[in-house]
Amino acid sequence: MGNYSNRKHKQRRNALADKLEKRGIEDQNVLAAIREIPRHEFVDTALEDRAYEDTALPIGAGQTISQPYTVAVQTELLQVKKGEKILEIGTGSGYQAAILCEMGADVYSVERQEKLYHTAKEKLHRLGYRPQLKLGDGTLGWSAYAPYDGIVVTAGAPVVPEDLVEQLNIGGRLIVPVGNQNSQVMVRITRVSENEYDEERLQHFKFVPLIGEKGWD
Ligand code: SAM
Repeated sequence: MGNYSNRKHKQRRNALADKLEKRGIEDQNVLAAIREIPRHEFVDTALEDRAYEDTALPIGAGQTISQPYTVAVQTELLQVKKGEKILEIGTGSGYQAAILCEMGADVYSVERQEKLYHTAKEKLHRLGYRPQLKLGDGTLGWSAYAPYDGIVVTAGAPVVPEDLVEQLNIGGRLIVPVGNQNSQVMVRITRVSENEYDEERLQHFKFVPLIGEKGWD
C-alpha cells in the first residue's frame, strides 16, 4: 500500500479514536491501540473505505467485526495491564485480538467458525501479532491455559457461562454480554477471592449469538 493510502488510513484512525474519546472512552491505552491497529486490514477490500466508521461490518459466515465503540467499551472494562493473560471468546476478524496484543497482553482467542479462524490467523500473523488461537467452542473457555486475568466474550450469551467464571484468576474480570438474541446487557464479573464474585450490569448492546454447549443452540 502506498504512502498516501497509509496516511489517509492513519488520519481516519485518529479521527475514530477522537470520536470514541468524545463518546466516553477514557482508557488512553485503549485509544492508543485504536490509533495503531489498521482495522481496514480486518475487513474485505470492498469495505476498506468504511473501516473507520464507528459501525459493525460483515466479515462472512454471517458474522461481524464489532463496532469500534463496542470493542473500546469491552476492552476498557477489562482493565488490561501489560503482561496480563487475556482470553477472548469469538476471534471473528482478529481485530480485537490485535488491540489486546498491542496493549501488551498475553492473548488467547477461541473461534468456532473454521473459515474465520484461518483468515484471522493469517491476518494477525501478517501484521506481526502472535496470539494463541484455537478453533473450538469458547463457551467452555480454554482450560489448558487457565486461569486468566481477563476474559472477554464478543458474542451474546443467554446466561453467564459458568466455565468462564471458573477460569478467572483472583482479581480477574469477565466481560460478557447477556440477554436474549435482540438485546444484551454488558456484565462484568470480578473474582474477588476464591469463592467471592462481584457482578456489575452496565449498558445494553446487540451482539451476534454465542453458539455452543453453554450458549445458544
Ligand atoms: N472480536 C471479533 C472481532 O474483533 O472481529 C468480533 C467477532 S463477532 C461480533 C463474534 C464472533 O464470535 C463470531 O466470529 C462468531 O463466530 C464467534 N462465536 C460465536 N459463538 C462462539 C463460541 N461458542 N466459541 C467461539 N466463538 C464463537
